[in-house]
Amino acid sequence: MTSIRFIALEKAMDRQPKEVHYPSAKASDYFGSMTFNQSTMKEYLTEEAFNAVKQAIETGYRVERKVTDQVASAIKAWALGKGATHYTHWFHPLTGATAEKHDAFISPTPQGQALENFSGKELIQQEPDASSFPSGGIRSTFEARGYTAWDPTSPAFIIDKTLCIPTIFISYTGESLDYKTPLLKSVSALDAAATEVVRLFNEDVTKVYPTLGWEQEYFLVDEALYNARPDMVLMGKTVFGHASAKDQQLSDHYFGAIHPRALAFMQELEIESHKLGIPVKTRHNEVAPSQFECAPVFEEVNVAVDHNQLLMHLLENVARKHNLRVLLHEKPYTGINGSGKHNNWSMATNTGINLLSPGKTSEDNFRFISMLSIIVKGIRDYEGLLRASVASEGNDLRLGAHEAPPAIISIFLGKEIADTLDEIEKMPEPKAISGRNGNNVIANIPKIPEILLDNTDRNRTSPFAFTGNKFEFRAVGSSANTAKPMFVLNTIVTEQMKQFKSEVDGLISKGMKKADAIFNVVQNYIKASKDIRFEGNSYSDEWVAEAAKRGLSNNRSTPEALLAFISDKTVNLFEKNEVLNKTELLARYEIKLEKYIKKIQIEGRMLGDLAINHILPTAIHYQNRLIENVRGLKEVLDAESYKKAAANQLSAIKEISEHTSVIQNEVEAMIEARKVANKIESYPEQAKAYHDSVLPYFEKIRRHVDKLELMVDDELWPLPKFRELLFLK
Ligand code: ADP
Ligand code: MG
Repeated sequence: MTSIRFIALEKAMDRQPKEVHYPSAKASDYFGSMTFNQSTMKEYLTEEAFNAVKQAIETGYRVERKVTDQVASAIKAWALGKGATHYTHWFHPLTGATAEKHDAFISPTPQGQALENFSGKELIQQEPDASSFPSGGIRSTFEARGYTAWDPTSPAFIIDKTLCIPTIFISYTGESLDYKTPLLKSVSALDAAATEVVRLFNEDVTKVYPTLGWEQEYFLVDEALYNARPDMVLMGKTVFGHASAKDQQLSDHYFGAIHPRALAFMQELEIESHKLGIPVKTRHNEVAPSQFECAPVFEEVNVAVDHNQLLMHLLENVARKHNLRVLLHEKPYTGINGSGKHNNWSMATNTGINLLSPGKTSEDNFRFISMLSIIVKGIRDYEGLLRASVASEGNDLRLGAHEAPPAIISIFLGKEIADTLDEIEKMPEPKAISGRNGNNVIANIPKIPEILLDNTDRNRTSPFAFTGNKFEFRAVGSSANTAKPMFVLNTIVTEQMKQFKSEVDGLISKGMKKADAIFNVVQNYIKASKDIRFEGNSYSDEWVAEAAKRGLSNNRSTPEALLAFISDKTVNLFEKNEVLNKTELLARYEIKLEKYIKKIQIEGRMLGDLAINHILPTAIHYQNRLIENVRGLKEVLDAESYKKAAANQLSAIKEISEHTSVIQNEVEAMIEARKVANKIESYPEQAKAYHDSVLPYFEKIRRHVDKLELMVDDELWPLPKFRELLFLK
């Protein structure tokens, strides 16, 4: 019988790139065509309704009931015109994925006919029976109701003939059960706090909003080979596999010519993204073979997060059409680079200023340095929380693995900015002078060299790097819902903005000039946050030692890292800024731990199954062949020749026995460890047990399986090998 691996290889070898049909020669012809964006809205709504929605988007005001009816009927008309048959509230439950429950527009009339219905009520609120979504005990199961409520700031869209309405998801008692609610709250908290600070410099500013430009890394693998690997099918990663003789050593994949099958996939991905208004712009090969990246132009953070969730969905859908599968796991293949998501984050004003842009005038520079010092100080105070915001079992395998930033949060500013801050730190006396518009500025704030903006010598090893006009948070996992690190970062910066404003006001009220007061606080922040700044190689062991000396946390595992989510300091931070309350934080902590436990549990089961039911029988089968061969040699050869010829075979037979018996024993021990862990009732302790006493078996077992892969006849090996998975045919 031909093994499933060979059937898969044959299929994979026959594939041709799929033909891609562009809806039009110019992307601008169809960009956003499947979204109910502001220009479509303008076309379909009365002026009054349009203005009400626009105001809701800009200020967060509620849309009145009589307007929502109008909006609903406009959305319905638009969606039916685009061929939609169903609608759904689209939300981000705490599973990390997105959720949707489709309802048909159609509803029967008493006359036996049917009408397409969609009212304002259905637009703004639904009550899905949501008892199966994780709630961390917030909703007891008898009270299964959760509400979804329309988020007008993110445009509705049509995908697969279904109108999707972005919504938040909250419990009957008002606690948030999703990622979007705290994100929206953090956006408005940051707006309030940052606007106050920015108005110290620019009085015309009335709104500040965070911006996000994500970069999404992923792997592609042929569908047939994927299906021949049960571990990929169940977990999106491999648990075994010896390194391919060649993988990423030559760095010949990075930025290389894109494989025609991958290119066709990307083209279709871009078409579908553009129809949904996702402004994807960049595509390239990443470091590992079959690893790629896709990045859009940045957007307001809430829309950018929705777009990232949508893109992850499109990646999977489009891949299937090309007989490919996409791997979003942070570490699908041991031994080569894993995938992350770089979050490029900044803040913009309604007057068009990027607050992290150094600026050409002294005034702008002063504001820029103030913003920078606020962010750096905030992160110094909450580095553990920022680390916790990206904690997951997949990301644990990447952070600190010498390919991705370590689990230690530090900030890279680049030489010019770092020197500037050092200079400010040492300045004895600020000199306030009168600047443009009568605003005071500090005369001796050093000018930031222009060269900065095209500074290409950026430190790629830093988890949080200043890259010219934004920060790049690189420790985010590739599969993560990126709302979480974003609402955490927004909240940290909000808190620091508030403190900054109150410290400056305090000094002013004591009679200090505004510019001097600002300078004083900035100088203090620079001093107080020095420890978090690191310009060197973050992958080095020296940094790990140095960071420990500086008192920075280095939480290598998810259960350890997550503790920062429930500390008094964190609870206080989130409650004070009205982003999450203690109950919600505890619920999230539990959900995260439970997810961690289940993921390790699933991996343990999968690994045991593959080892015992796939690998051992194969190894024994091959060993029997060797034994037969040795017997045969004895029959046909004279004693002297036999001794020589059989020596290698005999040692191989012995070696196989050694590996198989270790595998057998270790799998049994792992099952025992799991049983012990399963009896533990508290999540934190159970997670710790899974981490400390179950997880370590994975590597031990794997080592022996991978050795067997090198010994056993290639034709017998059941699982597609790395060299087959990693290179598209
Ligand atoms: P790389 O890290 O690959 O060198 P780039 O410098 O090309 O990346 O930019 C990465 C991302 O940064 C892009 O998605 C871009 O839209 C985003 N970006 C640029 N300016 C901002 C900003 N002000 N706020 C948020 N993201 C931004
Ligand atoms: Mg990047």
